[in-house]
Amino acid sequence: DAADDAEAVRRFAGKMRQEAQRLTNLVQDLITLSRIQAAEPVPDPRPVDIDAVVAEAVDRIRMKANARGITVATVGSRGLSVLGDEDLLVTALRNLLENAVAYSPEKTRVVVSTRKTTEGNAEVSVADQGIGIPERDLERIFERFYRVDPARSRATGGTGLGLAIVKHVMAAHNGKVTVRSVEGAGSTFTLVIPLRSEHVSTGAA
Ligand code: ATP
Ligand code: MG
Repeated sequence: DAADDAEAVRRFAGKMRQEAQRLTNLVQDLITLSRIQAAEPVPDPRPVDIDAVVAEAVDRIRMKANARGITVATVGSRGLSVLGDEDLLVTALRNLLENAVAYSPEKTRVVVSTRKTTEGNAEVSVADQGIGIPERDLERIFERFYRVDPARSRATGGTGLGLAIVKHVMAAHNGKVTVRSVEGAGSTFTLVIPLRSEHVSTGAA
């Protein structure tokens, strides 16, 4: 109806593009989720360098973080290696980073830290200084489509599949994801993945 109104055409075209992007993201997330669920555990696990996973995931979030004046720092042990699927691990960490940036005010800090635990796991945690998550919601946020504040979250453009994907990626790696959060202060999500046993690399000798 507004075909002759150039300003209206521009505005509607912009909205259509935004909605198309939203649907693309939704479809991609659904495909990722069903792909992982069909492949638990990872069918053809390979050695994965945690440093590469962190570098790749941080690289993909950098522009969004910069746009909001959020700095992303990486700290901790280097050279950790696990068995699994690099793309899936990058997807999991990227989802945590996307949340850290989306649910934090401008000019805050996100820290990605890696460490080796005494139980033989690699831990990768993402700590933000964001809005935090109320205690009562902590156990539900990993459910598909669950969002703490649907009105607020709609503005961030998500669908509530990110953490469900993270949870399944961890299950597929015999690992887990944990969360600690203080409302109004920030959240820390931690990926826990069994380290690749030394025997795998030296077994041939
Ligand atoms: P998307 O599918 O795009 O990831 P989403 O971010 O809403 O959408 P999840 O990543 O699964 O979905 O997160 C679920 C909910 O958990 C979010 O809507 C938000 O309410 C809460 N949440 C997740 N991460 C954080 C965080 N770092 N700080 C505060 N709230 C968070
Ligand atoms: Mg998310």
